[in-house]
Amino acid sequence: MTVELLHPRTRTDVEQTLRAASEAGTRVSIVGGRRHLDKGNPAEVDAELWTTQLDRVIAYEPAEMLVVVQSGMRCGTLAELLAEHGQEWPADAPLDATVGGVIASASSSSRRLTVGPLRDTVVEMELVTGDGRPVTSGARTVKNVTGYDVHRLMTGSLGTLGVITQVALKVRPLPERAVSVVAQGGLEVAAAIAAGVPRTAGVVATPGEVEVRVEGWAGEVDPIVASIGDLAGSVTILDGVPFPRAPWWTWPDPGTIVEAAVAPSRLARVLDGAIRYAALAGVGLAWIGVSSSDDLASTRARVAAAGGIAPAVRGPGGLGETSLAAPDVHRRLRSSFDPAGILAPGRAWGSDATAR
Ligand SMILES: Cc1cc2nc3c(=O)[nH]c(=O)nc-3n(C[C@H](O)[C@H](O)[C@H](O)COP(=O)(O)OP(=O)(O)OC[C@H]3O[C@@H](n4cnc5c(N)ncnc54)[C@H](O)[C@@H]3O)c2cc1C
Repeated sequence: MTVELLHPRTRTDVEQTLRAASEAGTRVSIVGGRRHLDKGNPAEVDAELWTTQLDRVIAYEPAEMLVVVQSGMRCGTLAELLAEHGQEWPADAPLDATVGGVIASASSSSRRLTVGPLRDTVVEMELVTGDGRPVTSGARTVKNVTGYDVHRLMTGSLGTLGVITQVALKVRPLPERAVSVVAQGGLEVAAAIAAGVPRTAGVVATPGEVEVRVEGWAGEVDPIVASIGDLAGSVTILDGVPFPRAPWWTWPDPGTIVEAAVAPSRLARVLDGAIRYAALAGVGLAWIGVSSSDDLASTRARVAAAGGIAPAVRGPGGLGETSLAAPDVHRRLRSSFDPAGILAPGRAWGSDATAR
């Protein structure tokens, strides 16, 4: 089947394109950097709407710690611009991922113990609904504003509610010093560090190794590193490396990977028997490599028993069965944002692939 490629250059283009698609019943997948498209149930589509030509900087006020960009801007381009002023948008995404793609997949940084969840960085959003209506949500201020927080709803919507066209993002100062501290051990050591050492930015456990990010003012870093050494024994300190050094989306031959989300105290139960994983201690997220459909089923059963969910984020497997909280609310939201049901039908939880 031929998939039509759509390359809007302005928000008006997006409005016209989606209005026409809704009228014709053309099913559309929204595409940014194409790095995270496996997340969600498979969605058969007639067209791809690429956001990569919506890539302008609209406003940047370093003193206000706010940047306004179009959604197709590459994360690497944004990082360069902000670094010139000693600032960052803490998403830690691949350089060719887009700002809109990171937000629509709610990919919060592994440093979230310090930088917080991604959705809190989005203060204003312009979007276009499935039937081509423009919507603006939030405001370019860090103070609360009235109105529905549609921009928070859009964070993690996987391209099923509308096209994010522009966002205002809170940025932060780049840390003066950032190091990764590597210790031997597993999840137990990682959990002890996350619970016992204040002000770590992220603690990742992989089989046999724990990697901890420590960042801040130069004088703050050494005492935190020393506390980690007290808990974990001998450690290696690495300057100037990304965190984590090998994010799971760079694993070679990844096969299927699920993203398990559970209460942090239940991570150990979920990882029991897993051979390849990376777990964020203190957060309750783990990326687990599964080798077969039986392995996928048993991993999901362990996660469900721990009260969590485990969508596949790489390879086949989709979102998996889960009882959706408030399914009617989901349905009503989808039908009001995308009345013709054209946006990646079936991709999100509780959506019907046949609804058109
Ligand atoms: C928890 C976590 C998981 C990650 N998983 C991956 C991974 O699997 N692979 C990887 O390379 N990196 C991953 N990263 C790093 C990075 O966050 C992603 O690469 C990035 O989010 C993908 O951006 P993209 O532009 O490539 O999005 P795409 O892959 O193009 O799109 C991702 C999703 O967002 C939707 N979308 C894209 N743009 C818009 C828009 N403007 N409006 C509305 N919807 C839109 C798409 O329809 C799709 O559902 C992950 C990071 C974290 C913290």
